[in-house]
Amino acid sequence: MATKQFQAESKRLLEMMINSIYTQKEIFLRELISNASDAIDKMYYKALVEDQLTFQSEDYFIKITADKENRTLTISDTGIGMTQEDLENNLGIIANSGSFAFKNENELKDGHNIIGQFGVGFYSAFMVADKISVITKAWGSEQAYKWESEGADGYTIELAEKDSVGTDIILHIRENTEEDTYDEYLEEYRLRTIIKKYSDFIRYPIKMDVKTQKPKEDAENEFEEVTEEQTVNSMVPIWRKNKNELTNEDYENFYFEKRYGFDKPLKHVHISADGAVVYNAILFIPEKTPFDYYTKEYEKGLELYSNGVLIMDKCGDLLPDYFSFVKGMVDSEDLSLNISRELLQHDRQLKLIAKNIKNKIKSALQSMMKDERDNYVKFYESFGRQLKFGVYNDYGMNKGDIQDLLLFYSSKEKKLVSLAEYVSRMPEDQKYIYYATGESVERIDRLPQTELVADKGYEILYFTDDVDEFAIKMLQNYQEKEFRSVSSGDLGFEADANEQEAEAKENENKELFEQMQELLGGKVKKVKASKRLKSHPVCLSADGEITIEMEKVLNAMPN
Ligand code: ADP
Ligand code: MG
Repeated sequence: MATKQFQAESKRLLEMMINSIYTQKEIFLRELISNASDAIDKMYYKALVEDQLTFQSEDYFIKITADKENRTLTISDTGIGMTQEDLENNLGIIANSGSFAFKNENELKDGHNIIGQFGVGFYSAFMVADKISVITKAWGSEQAYKWESEGADGYTIELAEKDSVGTDIILHIRENTEEDTYDEYLEEYRLRTIIKKYSDFIRYPIKMDVKTQKPKEDAENEFEEVTEEQTVNSMVPIWRKNKNELTNEDYENFYFEKRYGFDKPLKHVHISADGAVVYNAILFIPEKTPFDYYTKEYEKGLELYSNGVLIMDKCGDLLPDYFSFVKGMVDSEDLSLNISRELLQHDRQLKLIAKNIKNKIKSALQSMMKDERDNYVKFYESFGRQLKFGVYNDYGMNKGDIQDLLLFYSSKEKKLVSLAEYVSRMPEDQKYIYYATGESVERIDRLPQTELVADKGYEILYFTDDVDEFAIKMLQNYQEKEFRSVSSGDLGFEADANEQEAEAKENENKELFEQMQELLGGKVKKVKASKRLKSHPVCLSADGEITIEMEKVLNAMPN
């Protein structure tokens, strides 16, 4: 039996592919710029092995030119160019990547920076163009060629004129339709924004002709419009720079430029990891809570770059919920991207990076707590609640990561203290870590229940946040010391003489107590003589695990 070839409606297939791979049209520019950068990288590699070629960096650049009248957008590069055969194989066959082959043929172990691998990015340009012309001259060739296509109907290749080695990709931008506008891809400002967003750290200059107003030379206060060639991208990403060469201000500027927040970050962490997975990251601990932070709208995540090209705005998988306040970016060469470069194919590397990052954040916060306490307190006032929610939400599963970062107001120190600090001050005979719950420090100060514990000379942690006591219940203990509410029935120490006295009072006033209980109806379980009042006449105490304060919170929750 003869094997038959599949027939494919290639036009539809191409359309389907393009439109299902990419969610945003604007990424076509990222793809074409990445191809141009790859083409220049190939020259760089050729120069390493070919004697007659030296790589002079000023000769290598990418240029973007928009022509509104003719509705064309041209992406030019001075890279390696394409022969007729290259055009047939790499642009003529969908899903054939010359760049991927180049990496393999030349055994570029580190892959260096070559971005291409799937052989589809080029066609994304059809999302915005109804015709693409490619004029190219390959390195080492005398003849230039023109490849042209209006989509999947096919393409033509003919001889062309071109002086220098490299490639011009000329997009004939579509006319606006009722649903979609394409004019924006001819606007200088819009193009700059897209380049900045995705391709800011491409290592070669991306140039554009920019119209600016310049003061006239001969007349005062008069301006004229001049066109200047400007480099749009920053080229060297700050995260690839040496930490020692960077100042605090550089990091703050980066935070601001990236719009991570409008505050000044309290701390930055710059990571250059070289271990099981290679990546660079810059992370920031903000000072202020974003306005939507404690709402459902807030979306956690870090920017994710692959080889300097932005892949994802907010990669949530890189941060645990309890560190959702962290801002910043990660760049790695080791990510396995899927075809659209939007999502990740396998997340093993990503998981490794996430774990690594989590530990770095934890130790950054710990050292901040130790060495920059004022800043840490600022941080804690903004995001401490999130840490406590973290302990509670994960049923204490992540308490190892969080418990040493918690602070509570101390009756003794009159300020926020950590659990470790509390335990280190505990007298030998003290069994429990005591806490008292209330709306505010002032209110708790006046609670009758705190008196006895305080009199004993023991420190009390004040829980003024709804979530505090719930979080502590999940922790259960800290350094093997259990937590105990000052309103609990068993405080873990003998109330000395009070004990007998209370018993005597109990008998003496039996009738009175019974009457009081009756008067209060079902509101209290029992009225009895207290062993722990000193200067206050009466107090409420709870039986069992749920304290009065927790009950209040639970009752206030919507069912
Ligand atoms: P990928 O970049 O993933 O390989 P593309 O569809 O973007 O896939 O490009 C297909 C191939 O076309 C590239 O691998 C490369 O060989 C070739 N190519 C595309 N653009 C250029 C260019 N500007 N200069 C030289 N070769 C190019
Ligand atoms: Mg590509």
